[in-house]
Amino acid sequence: MSSKQLNNLSGLCIHTITTKPWNIEEAAKNYSANGVKGITVWRDALTGRNLKKTGDMLHKHNLSVVSLCRGGFFPGKEYSRRKAAIDDNRRAIEEAFELGTNLIVLVCGADPSQSLEDSRKQIFEGISTIIPEAKAAGVKLAIEPLHPMYADSRSAINTMAQANDLAETLNSPWVGVAVDVYHVWWDPNLEKEIVRCGNNKSLLAFHVCDWKTPTADMLNDRGLMGEGCIPIRKIRSWVEASGFNGFNEVEIFSAEYWKTDQSVFLKNIITAYKTYV
Ligand code: ZN
Repeated sequence: MSSKQLNNLSGLCIHTITTKPWNIEEAAKNYSANGVKGITVWRDALTGRNLKKTGDMLHKHNLSVVSLCRGGFFPGKEYSRRKAAIDDNRRAIEEAFELGTNLIVLVCGADPSQSLEDSRKQIFEGISTIIPEAKAAGVKLAIEPLHPMYADSRSAINTMAQANDLAETLNSPWVGVAVDVYHVWWDPNLEKEIVRCGNNKSLLAFHVCDWKTPTADMLNDRGLMGEGCIPIRKIRSWVEASGFNGFNEVEIFSAEYWKTDQSVFLKNIITAYKTYV
């Protein structure tokens, strides 16, 4: 696909955190009015709400609830922290069920006071523990590898190879992988690992944004598609060649964009989606 070909919006999903200044009702209304077809809901957007009614509201706006973000953060040197994480993931599964989505994205977690190997072992144990609940609720769990700059405290799973290894070891139809271009675009094995993930039928989600140079903040300076150096179309072509036919999810954390008029930002997201995804 050349970058001149424009996408229609049938595969466009937006994460609520992308337009964080809007509450979920405003996000739903505005996404829907602008032709967006899917929404991924961040749990903070649900505070104080009846989840069933919120799910109905989203469906009334003709939005597919693509996933709930996020579960995970399993590791902890202390048992109490790991136990609290399991409880929180069980709540996330209930929330996903009530909201009417069949996918939870997992940011696996890490604890800098212990080794990465220990954190990975605890991630394995944490996910294993909640698989029965996920299965009972009909909710899949997508392991999202995070860029290694977050290996200290956000995730000890940092490459597609590690995510594939973990999913293969867990060996459950309820566990797969989420590919987020921001985290994995630099990986020389990316295409190979996307193929492996597809062959396992484990590729459950695809997240897009861009990598700005310089990046002013490690967390909240993601770029709009086309603003940075990520070959988004190329990665999308690999993801689709692997058999994935789900939504392209726009997930942008940006202190800069959150300060701007979100209606203008949404129009810019749509233009960037048509042109660069
Ligand atoms: Zn993501």
